[in-house]
Amino acid sequence: MNKLDTALVGSALKEAGFSLTGSEKEADVVLINTCSVREHAEQRVLSHLGHLKHIKKTRPDMVVGVIGCMAQRLGDKLLEHKAVNIVCGPAQIPQITELITEALQQKKKTLAVTENIRKTAEEQNETLEEFESAYGIEDEQIPGQAFVRVMRGCDNFCAYCIVPYVRGPAVCRPPEAIIEQIKKLPGQGVKQVTLLGQTVNSYKFKSGERTYCLADLLDMASGIEGIEWVKFVTSYPSEEFFDEILQVMADSPKVCNYLHLPAQSGSDKILRAMNRHYSSRWYLELLAGARAVVPDIAIAGDFIVGFPGESEDDFQATVDLVKKARYKNAFIFKYSPRPGTRLWRAGGELQDDVAPEVKQKRNIELLAVQEKVSDELNRAFLGKEVKILVEGLSKKPHLNAADKADNPQLVGRTATDYIVVFNGPPSLAGQFAKATIKRTSPLTLFGKLT
Ligand code: SAM
Ligand code: SF4
Repeated sequence: MNKLDTALVGSALKEAGFSLTGSEKEADVVLINTCSVREHAEQRVLSHLGHLKHIKKTRPDMVVGVIGCMAQRLGDKLLEHKAVNIVCGPAQIPQITELITEALQQKKKTLAVTENIRKTAEEQNETLEEFESAYGIEDEQIPGQAFVRVMRGCDNFCAYCIVPYVRGPAVCRPPEAIIEQIKKLPGQGVKQVTLLGQTVNSYKFKSGERTYCLADLLDMASGIEGIEWVKFVTSYPSEEFFDEILQVMADSPKVCNYLHLPAQSGSDKILRAMNRHYSSRWYLELLAGARAVVPDIAIAGDFIVGFPGESEDDFQATVDLVKKARYKNAFIFKYSPRPGTRLWRAGGELQDDVAPEVKQKRNIELLAVQEKVSDELNRAFLGKEVKILVEGLSKKPHLNAADKADNPQLVGRTATDYIVVFNGPPSLAGQFAKATIKRTSPLTLFGKLT
């Protein structure tokens, strides 16, 4: 979501005549797009702002803007920071060029956030829709790929989560606008489109007599010439439209067999406290059902360890779930109390009763359990040929030198989201390639171009 907002803002600024630079030393304007999901992310922004305050001592005309969730959450408190000129929430990004132009000319501080985010006005949604449709076609952060938001916000109110309070209520975008946007992408070299939403499987839009669900969007997107792979994230474990989505995955070769379905915990007591509306047994049945319809489906999960009240037994229930779920990979987070969430309102920081060292120990233990599963799943690829959409140069080329033909190390992903590293010409970025897997590690498949 955040990367998409960064790309939208970048496109809007380019169109308004700004040019982008990666260096703060050269920049007249520095924008920081922020996330509020965990405290650590916000702390990093604050330390970055400390650094910018220092730079501004010698360059007082530099304009610094904070955009995104942290801007919405902290509002005027953030504007008080010496380094900050603009605070702009996620719903105000369509105004970003105006806000910057004003700040450059008038040297004043500006706050643009939504006062009551849970009551987002219709007009605001229309402005966001126009902005998204206009600038959502230039998203080339990863060659050959684009991300298209199909729904904004969330209505689920998981007890730990800040998203509903900084992104507002769930609003589904009209299918025509989404499909029109995707149709323009192949002309820009895009081969894979990922549909985005916090509970993307619950996408629903009534248009005339017809109600569109995510399966319809997947079907329509995969019918567009030039779009070869269609993915979607993140799904919420619910029955809503689940069968339809799996069916389109099974039927359409373009809809990738990949499902990101966070469970968060394996303990039913903790799931209830999290306000997640399923049990671990039901969740595992859902996975079994998915595998029955799409046998080679790759499933990824998210977990929070050290949630308030999580006992060792609760944690072991999570370990057990991870062993049974056989995820391709799982993202594991230590619980981070967030002001404003349901849990915070029920008792603030006092609720955070699992000691940091226990969270750390559980994090490491769960990672090790998942690593063993990932290692087994990855080994099954040995000697097999896979199709990859190449992303570009590997971020860790030092782990594997260039080959005899001087080809650097590239990285890409399969349709089922497995990461593949191999030597090849950089011109492959954004293209499909095939490689035979020669070696594996728990995180990566190492291949040779075929
Ligand atoms: N909508 C998705 C879902 O329901 O799973 C995920 C949204 S959230 C931005 C991404 C992940 O961050 C969640 O799956 C959860 O594991 C983690 N997360 C959210 N709030 C958290 C918190 N307060 N502390 C630690 N992890 C958190
Ligand atoms: Fe947060 Fe839950 Fe909504 Fe996901 S479903 S964004 S975890 S409130």
